[in-house]
Amino acid sequence: MQDVNITIVCDNNPYKKGLETGWGFSCLVGGREKTILFDTGPGGSLLVNMEKLAIEPQSIDTVVLSHVHPDHTGGLEGFLEKNPDVTVYLPKSLPERFKDNVQAQGAKVIGVGQPMEICGNVWSTGQHGKWIKEQALIIRTGRGLIVMTGCAHPGIVKMVNAAKDLVKEDRLLVMGGFHLEWAGKNKIEKIILAFNQLGVRYAGPCHCTGEKARSMFEECFDMKYIKLGAGKVITIADLR
Ligand SMILES: [Zn+2]
Ligand SMILES: [Zn+2]
Repeated sequence: MQDVNITIVCDNNPYKKGLETGWGFSCLVGGREKTILFDTGPGGSLLVNMEKLAIEPQSIDTVVLSHVHPDHTGGLEGFLEKNPDVTVYLPKSLPERFKDNVQAQGAKVIGVGQPMEICGNVWSTGQHGKWIKEQALIIRTGRGLIVMTGCAHPGIVKMVNAAKDLVKEDRLLVMGGFHLEWAGKNKIEKIILAFNQLGVRYAGPCHCTGEKARSMFEECFDMKYIKLGAGKVITIADLR
């Protein structure tokens, strides 16, 4: 299996100098059959940061949107102006108007309800959640699974469990927005404990995880913390 590489294109946490850090999230998954853009950040920042990171919009053939919020979908329209020749996987509960607009720009739309394979060794968890429907991405590596979330509105542990139920392999890395910005210490501790019980080896909390939760993950000895922010690249070498 080819090694995977992940580039954080947009995040409100800074990492590489000179990149825009508006509120939102987007990252690029390379090293699989398809080159996947997971979320598109807030409008504007995506293309600016892609250019600064020397990522060609034409190199991407698949877009996965975690959920409808504009800090994850805002960059899509501008991206499709550069490259409409993509398939966009989005939660099927998204407004029809949203889907129509994506199709009108020339992209193919796939509404995701149940879990599905996106390409070899990459899956969507399917849409979860009562109010805000959200899908997470599962990437299989030779060393275990990477679970990637946008905001994890349905609950980060729920999303990791969904990944575990779908692909029965070890959980190597959980990364993305964990939605703990306003969570209390007790709740965060419970989540860290659940991660340990789920055998998560690396945690890369960013976007809407919040500083308090990020530092609690960093201080936890049972799993390794990966500091994420705009411009950070994760390769399998970071996960040894
Ligand atoms: Zn968000
Ligand atoms: Zn959100």
